[in-house]
Parts: sequence; C-alpha cells; structure tokens
Amino acid sequence: MTVHSGMLWLPEALEECGIRTVVLDGWAEAQGAYLWTDPDTGVGSYGGHPSCYMIHHTASSSALPSVKDSSGRWSKANVWAGLERDGRLYQTGSGEPTLVFTSSGPARVSSGYGHGPTALDVFRDVRVPWKQTEPDTEMALNRYAWNVETVARGDGSDIDPRVEAALEVMGAVLCERFGWAPWRAIGHVTWSTRKVDPFWQGEPDRIVRIQDNIEELLEEGDMWAEWVRGLVEGWAEDPVKTAQEFTRLNEMDPPVLEPGNNPQTVAYWIDLLNDPGSREWLGFVSRTILLSGVAR
Ligand SMILES: [Zn+2]
Repeated sequence: MTVHSGMLWLPEALEECGIRTVVLDGWAEAQGAYLWTDPDTGVGSYGGHPSCYMIHHTASSSALPSVKDSSGRWSKANVWAGLERDGRLYQTGSGEPTLVFTSSGPARVSSGYGHGPTALDVFRDVRVPWKQTEPDTEMALNRYAWNVETVARGDGSDIDPRVEAALEVMGAVLCERFGWAPWRAIGHVTWSTRKVDPFWQGEPDRIVRIQDNIEELLEEGDMWAEWVRGLVEGWAEDPVKTAQEFTRLNEMDPPVLEPGNNPQTVAYWIDLLNDPGSREWLGFVSRTILLSGVAR
C-alpha cells in the first residue's frame, strides 16, 4: 500500500504548537495519483513534497470530513478546518477549533486549473497579487498544493478567529519546514479567476491578512518566545513579577522589548492572557511554541 510519507509529520508538529488535530484512519494512504514522499522513507522513488499551501472555504456552514465519502469519492482536501462537534465541523457555535486530516497525498479535486504563470511565480517565493485576473491555463495545481478546506459559507460571514489562527500556524509550520516564503500561502482566489475563496470576516482579500500573519509568525516569533513562555507558565496574574520580567527583558542586549513597556502595557498583556479566547492569545502562544524549535 502506498504511503505518502512526506507529510505525515504535520499533525504532530501542529499539536506541539497547541493546535487541536484529528487524523482519520487511512489518511496516510489516501489518494495515489502522485506521491509526496521523504527521501529516506518513501516508497519507490522520492516524490518530494508540496510546493504551496492553498486555503479554501467550503461554501457551507458545516462539513463532515472523511477520507472517502459513502460514494467512494476521495476527500477534496488534505485538511479540513472548523469547530468540531461530534465529528462534524461547523463555522459557528460551540466546539473546539480543529484541523481534521483526510489525505496526506495530493487531493484530486481541490486546486484544479488556474493561471499557470502565477503558480510558477509562487514557487519562486514571489508575492503575487491576491486576486487572479487572468483566465485558467492548462496547468492544474492538485499535484503541487497542500489544500485546506475551511468550513465557511463563503458569503463574507465570520469564522472563529481561533480557526483562522490555526490556518496561519499551519502555514508557518509548512514555511519553516520547507523553507518557503509566507507568500506560498495563497487563496483559491489567487489561482483562478473563477474562485473567491477564502472570503470571510467581510474581507474578499482576507488571504493578504493571512499571509501577513504567517510572515509575522515566522519573523517575530523569536522576539516574543521567551517572555510569552514566562507569562504562560503562571506568573501572568502577578503584576509585580510581570513588570520585573518586562524590566529584565528591556535590559537584555539587545533589548527583547521595545523601550517604553510600562505598567499600562503590563496590564494590557495581563488582560490579554486572561482572555483565552482572544486571537492574540492563540497567536502568541503559537508563536512561542512554534519558534521554540518544534517545527524545525
Ligand atoms: Zn476552493
């Protein structure tokens, strides 16, 4: 049986970044038209790994991820993202932000056809315009793209910020692992003029913000890592100790923090840390763990 060994590391790496993952039985063997394999563990010849990361929305408010559906059709994505309740993923309501892995190999019906020259630029780490304006060519991206389907109606309505943060952390982990620029994360809208995804939080160009956040995860993580870890480990509720730590970090050479961190700033961070649902919370915790070397 063919195993797509090249991507099997990803769920565990994300778990270590604090992202909840579910791996469905059969995902390692799912889809076989092309192989994504590591040189040392691959079956047969080395097939390499994906060359970009494409973000989609499902155009539905819930979805049931599966390796194969009841009609025998393969999953249309490698990963599904949403709020998990009883095995289904939802756009809104209760449930834990979760990434569900359904295929470690190239998904057959996912990225599809688009504008070939754009893909070649993306593979060269060029930041291409977020929206495709040229018609599709003969090139399909299925073999090259790591695809995530995000449960969202696609009408611009909001998704849970923690789900979006999980998408960004996955992007940063992929960039770290493969040495990609953050611009390798693209939307379907970036690839084909026929598509609009991802469209949520009222922003048709949301992929730009996602790329920016992935860049921030990659570039600023080291700066924040040490002190956020300290905050997370339990002294966040002690303003005196927190202030002392700010002072210590300011005195480091070079200073870890910008000059001007003061009691008001400390109070801000404490409030943030006491709100586990906030986007900043997950983003900073993720940065911390991501850049502690887990994903490298
Ligand atoms: Zn799509």
